[in-house]
Amino acid sequence: MKKYYVNKNAQGNGDHEVHAEDCIYLPKVDNRTYLGEFSSCIGAVATAKNKYLITNGCKICSNLCHTR
Ligand SMILES: [Zn+2]
Repeated sequence: MKKYYVNKNAQGNGDHEVHAEDCIYLPKVDNRTYLGEFSSCIGAVATAKNKYLITNGCKICSNLCHTR
């Protein structure tokens, strides 16, 4: 299980990116929302969708959930 976070600030394309706790692109503390512990990015992205309409997995740490 890993802790997952979603970026508060959207990317240029509107995505709020989901990151695992050990990602090099993990946003700073004041720019991320804690989602919970998940066995993969799938549950984390599903949870992030409750907060933000447009979410996407980070290409680096959550490539399985990276769709664009
Ligand atoms: Zn990441």
